[in-house]
Amino acid sequence: MSNDANTKKTDTKSDASAHTPAPVSNFLRGIIDHDLAAGTYTRDGLPNVITRFPPEPNGYLHIGHAKSICLNFGLARDYAGRCHLRFDDTNPEKEDQEYVDTIIDSVKWLGFDWNDSPEQGGGSHLYYASDYFDTFYAIAEYLINAGHAYVDSQSADDMAANRGDFSKPGVNSPFRDRTAAESLDLFRRMKAGEFQGGEHILRAKIDMASPNMNMRDPAIYRIRQAHHHRTGDKWCIYPMYDYAHPLEDAIENITHSICTLEFQDHRPFYDWIIERAAEGGFFKQPVPRQYEFARLNLTYVVTSKRKLRQLVEQNIVSGWDDPRMPTIVGIRRRGYTPEALQLFCERIGVTRSDGWIDYSTLEGCLREDLDPKAPRATAVLRPLKLIIDNFPEGENVACSAPVHPHHPERGNREFTISKELWIEQEDFMEVPSKGYFRLFPGNKVRLRYGYVVECTGADKDADGNIIAVHCNYFADSKSGTEGSANYKVKGNIHWVSAADALEVEVRLYDRLFTDANPDAGGKDFMTLLNPSALEVVKAYVEPGMKDVTPDTRLQFERHGYFVADRVDSVVGKPVFNRVTTLKDSWGK
Ligand code: ATP
Ligand code: MG
Repeated sequence: MSNDANTKKTDTKSDASAHTPAPVSNFLRGIIDHDLAAGTYTRDGLPNVITRFPPEPNGYLHIGHAKSICLNFGLARDYAGRCHLRFDDTNPEKEDQEYVDTIIDSVKWLGFDWNDSPEQGGGSHLYYASDYFDTFYAIAEYLINAGHAYVDSQSADDMAANRGDFSKPGVNSPFRDRTAAESLDLFRRMKAGEFQGGEHILRAKIDMASPNMNMRDPAIYRIRQAHHHRTGDKWCIYPMYDYAHPLEDAIENITHSICTLEFQDHRPFYDWIIERAAEGGFFKQPVPRQYEFARLNLTYVVTSKRKLRQLVEQNIVSGWDDPRMPTIVGIRRRGYTPEALQLFCERIGVTRSDGWIDYSTLEGCLREDLDPKAPRATAVLRPLKLIIDNFPEGENVACSAPVHPHHPERGNREFTISKELWIEQEDFMEVPSKGYFRLFPGNKVRLRYGYVVECTGADKDADGNIIAVHCNYFADSKSGTEGSANYKVKGNIHWVSAADALEVEVRLYDRLFTDANPDAGGKDFMTLLNPSALEVVKAYVEPGMKDVTPDTRLQFERHGYFVADRVDSVVGKPVFNRVTTLKDSWGK
């Protein structure tokens, strides 16, 4: 908190400035508008726009996925189309039902839905690539018969060497001209489990001299003696991602297949495989097209599943849902709202050029979303005793404050004031610095929603630490009474009464890394951890907080936005997480 933020109003936004979803145009909308005008995807019984979000169930979703989710589901919503949630579960070794469940939960929490409305027939558009394994296989046999694929039996080393590199064309495999009948026989025996992994592989037959490495006879099926979380032990050959993904899109009649830029070089193969399968009668025109956008890079955050796993496995964080994690479960537990994330995704937009989004943009969206909604409350995070020496012993005087400064209809919070209060340590200075208007001997401040007091001094322990501050109050200065107008003070501080405050645990979260780009330029993100990313304090909050239910978000005045932790908080004994401070104070 910056100096004397207390004298300013923090609630400057009215509800009118809250999120109004006016779609901002971008290059993808331009493409869709063009396709709509041209009637590209006018098909019987199908919407003109069908997008998909295709996670691999091998980890928890993160903020980067949120961008893709908001983009795909958002386009479907805005163009009255639909968006499929599809599990791209073609890699059995790393996938698990646990991940399927959390992904479903996260997409729902973000506010999206893959079900048609009841008027549209109420169909569900939740799909699993593994349900298409038979079709993938049939297409592979077709490709072999049509001369578009062959079984290669080179060793992995030979295959790598013969692939060439960017400056050197590849060399045809000695097995490339094997007859279709021979390839088909081997492929069927691969499927029957007659071979070990690595003995044979099915490859598309395209062009070993292509300048695009992805077109140099890419592998499309490999042997994997692995148990699949949905198909069990039915298969011992599994399709490669680059082969399966376009076919999944085509099977589901996707129109616009949106992915991140690193797939740009894969697009020629995307088109190739769908065209070949369409020639074979597996798909009808118009077929899906792939479009790439820049992935989200957020400062102070890593978004690679592998790196996030490292943080969990090395106990740097308490789990995937640790509030410091950029996973959707972590961000949710931290206290972010789905609306704030949607606003964020809308605000950062979609482009075709890579860049970094500042973390403060995300925090700004949370503040913008919560400011008009969040009830206000008082919390003293670093308590110091304030004793009002002339206050009647044992007396508790009722005070109240609005639940929300712009919504009188939301009523008031009730609490009391008494002789002993808790205030913030930083609201007292024995020797004030320039421009300090809070408590120091001889100065008057208003105890917000209470009385004006004049500081008279402080008690210290043997080491010279301040242990209590003393003051006298003016009985006719109570907020809301006529007399209060007679007191003009510059400082206005918050407090809770020692008699009715609730002692709670508050977790003050901050950025997980000290470096804005923790995994860029060869840096080791594990050496850039922010030691102050979590500070746990014993705080005092106003008495009404005992009724707070888990997941309730509020603004602790002068401090920021907080949430009652969804895991550890219980009614009567809340635990609060700081989502973000009121202002961007990072590095200042
Ligand atoms: P990671 O690299 O962290 O493992 P991934 O891309 O492998 O992520 P998938 O489950 O394959 O994870 O991703 C599902 C979708 O989310 C893909 O369409 C992918 O392009 C998109 N996506 C992943 N990371 C980002 C990001 N940082 N920004 C935008 N979209 C992303
Ligand atoms: Mg991926």
